[in-house]
This record gives sequence, structure tokens and C-alpha cells, in this order.
Amino acid sequence: MAAASSNERKNISKQLLLVLLFILSCICLSTAINTANARNDSGLAFDHGVYYVPLTPDANSDTVYIGNNLVFVPNVDYTDIDSGEFDFYDYAQMPHATGVTVSSTYGWNDLGPNVTWYNCSEPPQMRVISREGKDKHCGLYIMTLHFKDPDGTYYLSIPHSNGLVKVYCNGNNLGFLWGRHDEWTPSFGFGYEYVPIIPDSDGIARVMITISTHVNIHNPGLLSPPALDSSVDSMSYAIIPALWVMMLFVLYLFILIGGFLISRTFKNKLVFYELILIEFLSLMYMLVDCNFIVFNALVKEQMSFILLILLNTMVFVFIDSFYTTSVAYKKHLILRAAPVIVSSIALLLILWAIFGNIQFTTWIPLVPELLFTLLVACICGFNLLTVYYGETASFYVCIIEICHVFFSFNAIAGFKGAYNLPTYSVFLAIANLTLEFYYVSRYVIQARALEDTMEHMQFLVQEKTLRISEINRDLYTTNKKLMENEQARKTVLSNVSHDLRTPITAIRGYAEMLYTSGQNMPESQKTNYLKNIIRRSEQMERIISDIVELTRLESNANEFQFMDVSISELLDEVYMIYEADLQGSGKKITLDIPDNDLLFVRADPKKLSRVFENLISNAINYTFEEAKIEIKAWREGQEKSIENQTICIDIKDNGIGIPANEVSMIFDRFYRAKNSGQNIKGTGIGLSIVKTIIDRHDAKISVESAIGTGTVFHIVMRAN
Ligand code: ADP
Repeated sequence: MAAASSNERKNISKQLLLVLLFILSCICLSTAINTANARNDSGLAFDHGVYYVPLTPDANSDTVYIGNNLVFVPNVDYTDIDSGEFDFYDYAQMPHATGVTVSSTYGWNDLGPNVTWYNCSEPPQMRVISREGKDKHCGLYIMTLHFKDPDGTYYLSIPHSNGLVKVYCNGNNLGFLWGRHDEWTPSFGFGYEYVPIIPDSDGIARVMITISTHVNIHNPGLLSPPALDSSVDSMSYAIIPALWVMMLFVLYLFILIGGFLISRTFKNKLVFYELILIEFLSLMYMLVDCNFIVFNALVKEQMSFILLILLNTMVFVFIDSFYTTSVAYKKHLILRAAPVIVSSIALLLILWAIFGNIQFTTWIPLVPELLFTLLVACICGFNLLTVYYGETASFYVCIIEICHVFFSFNAIAGFKGAYNLPTYSVFLAIANLTLEFYYVSRYVIQARALEDTMEHMQFLVQEKTLRISEINRDLYTTNKKLMENEQARKTVLSNVSHDLRTPITAIRGYAEMLYTSGQNMPESQKTNYLKNIIRRSEQMERIISDIVELTRLESNANEFQFMDVSISELLDEVYMIYEADLQGSGKKITLDIPDNDLLFVRADPKKLSRVFENLISNAINYTFEEAKIEIKAWREGQEKSIENQTICIDIKDNGIGIPANEVSMIFDRFYRAKNSGQNIKGTGIGLSIVKTIIDRHDAKISVESAIGTGTVFHIVMRAN
């Protein structure tokens, strides 16, 4: 446990370090993009209000920016120029400013540090022009360009401006930038447009740029320095942002399709819909902000404001959704109330932006934007570092939150680069890639876990199947055994009844004869009959005791009491009994055992004696008058270790032998060989008892026999 938690701690500190590194790289990235992408003034030679432009039509790659030393004439509208009320040189009599700098933050509300006003003691008030019930301000930027090559065509482009932009050159109307002719209705632009500047025969181009914009805009006018290109090469300014937006859109589609495919694995499906909404809002923000969708300046400002607030709210709710299943979330009411509070604030801000008639000429809209972003970032950051610290998704959530902060701050800063690629969009891409990576890796982990579980299940099923088949086999064996036992029982019964019937019939016959004609019978015959009755009763008794013994041996494992037994001693005892019995008969019995080896085995001595007695008495029974019975025991494998040695016992006779085809059956219960005959008494149970006892000793018994020559029973036991 302790090891696991220390491992966990190590993991978390590693993640924290990664997060810090990520923040650092984001700062570097923002700075790098903003620096590299800056659209600065090219520092053209400027004299007496004229720029000297070194461009030639051949120098395809040359682009120059004009951001300093412009002339600004307030309160001049394109309608004044179109109606002829205002001519290029008229500005000299009007209040105007020179040394004007382009400012992206304030537009013409901040004309730069070098500005000098003419024909007025202080900057004049902006005049409100009302048309179609709407109020607007207008202003005119003026520049005189002197081209090195008077025959060339040059292209003017301004990617970022607030208001309707109309361009004139040498008194000719060149058209609107963004191609819009109605300043109050939205239209679709292409992010970047240019108009051709055609100088007069002296290479002079007097350019006038009028801008009309809503009175509530805080940064009206030019927001990025106008660029001059010597060729239509500036198409790249349109294509590159379009490609970038396409790329973001493709990422968005990936998330949409991928998220849809794996949304079944989400605990909380709402996360997926929130994600779609966030993607949609951020793309919309970019399209509006970069003039891919063109609105009039106020609507654009309002839209951007609302989209950013919505985006912040959705990011908060989205991050919150990751933790709805966590213990802390269920425990603390404040955590559950947070999304409601944030959404309510957002709603109030949106209503304020729509109905509040906000002065977009001031900092006012930027303050709530900034504060709201900070609020969301702080709550998310606080939650991540305290309550949700160390949760599975926290690392990815943290990366997304950092991207969100960088996105929002860059969006509020409003910096646009040379290619109209806003810095915030880079963080949108990073956040999307992180999310993709998170979902894909989560999916892969889940798929792997599933595969492992499947494998485990398969293994369990296989194991169970094996177990079942084993049980089946056991059942089959048990069943077979039961059937065999049943068969054996029937055989035993029929054999017993048959074997008992013979003596019973004989006894009954003798008894009946004695009963019916006993008085007339001579005494000797009566005695003979009575002797027969006694013999037959003894035979019955023997049969019954043999059956009882065999049954007991087979059914009761505890019958056996194993101990170290000397085969030499055991055989010697048995031999002594039979040797005495055979005294005076024609039958001879011999014993051959080693002198100096007691031939120890592990056995039940009583049961083993029974084996030897049975075999020796069979040998005596199934031999002729002049018989020779040999008992021999010896050790085999003396050179090996004791556990590999065996004790062998042979009981050999030169009797009637067993027919070859019956040798295999003589151990069966009640089986008696055909040649054993009626006059040799027996039940056919003796060898079954022998076999059962030998089996219980883990020993082996075999027979070699030949009719008329004799029989050898060979026993092999493990030495002890
Ligand atoms: P039983 O001797 O009571 O008939 P056993 O089970 O001891 O029963 O022997 C089974 C049969 O094996 C005998 O009936 C006999 O035919 C045969 N048998 C056993 N021992 C010998 C032997 N030493 N020589 C010839 N036949 C034998």
C-alpha cells in the first residue's frame, strides 16, 4: 500500500512538472508566434508626406508594410469622396493628424506618440453620422506612395480593421476591402483581401482609405498596417489562413466522429455534447474574429464578446463534468453549485452585452471578459490543485485548462499576425490534439482491458470445461464401475446360489433318504450318508466364509495394517505348517530363501500369509500324488538404491497346470479352470482374494503354466 501511494505521489509530481513545462512552452510559443507573425512597419523612406516604395513587378516576394507616418483625417466619409465634396488635397485645409501609427488595441483612438494635429488646437470630436437609424463614426487615412516602377501594379491589403473599409487611388474608387458594399449587414469574406494600386505615369499613387464604423466600437479604424505587394502573390495571405481554418475544422471533425464512436464508453455522455459545443463556439469565434464571417464592427464586437463568454462557461462546465462521479464532487455542495453560479454570471454578461448599450469605445467590455476568464481559470485551477488533485483525467484536464487560458488571453489581446492567423487558434489546435490523444489513449486502454478480460474469461471457460469433462469422465468411470459391480453382484449371486445349491441338494437328498428309509438302511450306509452331509455342510461353510472375506477385503480399506515385514520369516512360518501337513504323503514342499537377507517389504503380514497359504494350498490341491512344490524368494536389483529394489516370490508346482486360454481368467471370482474337475474341491474365490490383497500392496502377480507340467505363481513386491 505504502509503495503504491509513494508511486502515485511520484507520478503526480512528474505530471505537475510536465504541466509547468507546458505552461512555459505556451508562453514561449505565444511570444514566438506574436513576434514572428508581427506585421511591422517596413521603415520605408519617407519624405514630405511621400513614401518611396522600392518594389518592382519582378521582385515577387517583396512585401512592404506601412504602419507609421500615415495621415489621418477624422470625420470624412466615403460618401464625401464619392460626391466630390472631398478631394485628396482638401485634407490640408481640414483638421488632420500626421505621423499617425496603426494601433491594433485602440485603432484611431490612439494615433501613436508622434502624432501632430493641424488646423485644430486639440484633437477634434468624432462626428456622429446617422443613417438608416444607425449611428457611425468615420475617418480617412491618407498616404502618398512613390513607386520605383511606375508601370507595375501593386496590391494593397489590410487584414485587420474595424469598420467598412473603402480604398481610393488617384481619385479612383478601388472598392471595398472584404468585398462588402453594405456596411450594416453581415456577409462572408475570405479572411484577407486586396485591391490593386495603379500609380500614375510618374509612379505616384495617392491612396485614401475611408473607414466607417459603429459609434460604440472601442478600436475603430485600421488595426494592422496596410501591406503592399508587387504581385498577386498575396493570394498566399488568403490561402494560408483558409488552410489553417480547414485544418482546425478537420480536427473538429475528428473529435466529432471519434467522440461519437467512443461516446458509448463515457460515464457521462453530456461531456461529449459539451465538447461539440466548445469546438463549435471556438471555431465560430475564430471565423467571426478573422472576418471569415463578416459583420458590421459593432455586431462583430458583440458576437466576439458573447462567444468568448459562452466559450469560457462551456469550458468550465466541460471540465466540471469530468469530476461529477468523484467523491469530492458528491460531498461538497459548492462544487456542484459552481457551474450554476458561473453560468448565471455568463448569462448576465451576455444579456448586458446585448441590451446594455455598452460603450465599446472604452475598456468596459474587455474588463468583464478578462475577469470572467480569470474567474473560470482560477476556479478550475484551484479545483485541480486541491479537490481533484491526482484524479485520472486531471493531467489532460489541466492541459486543456492551460490552453483555454492562453486562448482567452490571446483572443482578448486581439493580436493578428501577417497571415491573419490569430495566436489563440494555435491553442485551440493544441487543446484539440490533447483531447484527441486523451480519448484515443483512453479508448485503447479500455480496449486492452476488455481484451484481457476476454482472455481471462476464455481461460476460465476453458478451465471450467476441462473440469466438467473431468467430472464427466469420473462420472462415467463411476457409472461403469457401478455397472460392473452390479454385474459382479449378479454373477456372485448366481455363482453362490449355484455353488450352494449343489451341497444343499446333496444334503437334502441324503437327509430325505435317511428320513424315508433310514430304518431299513444298514448302519454303515447311514454313517456314510451322515459323513456326506457333514462334508457338504463344510463345503457350504467354506464358500460362505470365502465370500465374506472377499467382500470385506474389497469394501474396507482399513482392513489392511501395513508394517515392515520379513518375507523370509513369513514364508518360513507358512512353510513349517504345510511341511508338517504333508508329512507322510507323497507330496514334497521346499523353501529357498537367502541366508543373510530377511527380504523386508511393507505389508500386512496376516493378509500376505493368506496369499501364500492360498497359493500353496492350490499347489497342493492341483497336483498329483508325487508332487514337488517349491517356494523361493530373493531380492532383485541389489546394485540399485533400496527404493528401486524388488522382492520376488515364486510358488511352483509340477501339477495339472492351467489351459493356456484360461490363464487370464483364473483371478476372476468363482472362476475355476475346466481341468480342475469335480473331485478337487474349491470355490474359485481363492485367487480373487489373492489378487485383491496383492493389488492393495501395489505388488504384481503373474502365472506361467503348462498343462501336465505345472504352474508357477510369480509375485514381485517393492523392497523396503
Ligand atoms: P479354487 O482353488 O477354490 O477352485 P482358486 O481361485 O484358488 O479357486 O483357483 C481358481 C482356479 O485356478 C482353480 O479352480 C484352478 O482351476 C486354477 N488353479 C489355481 N491354482 C492352480 C495350480 N497350482 N495348478 C493348476 N491350476 C490351478
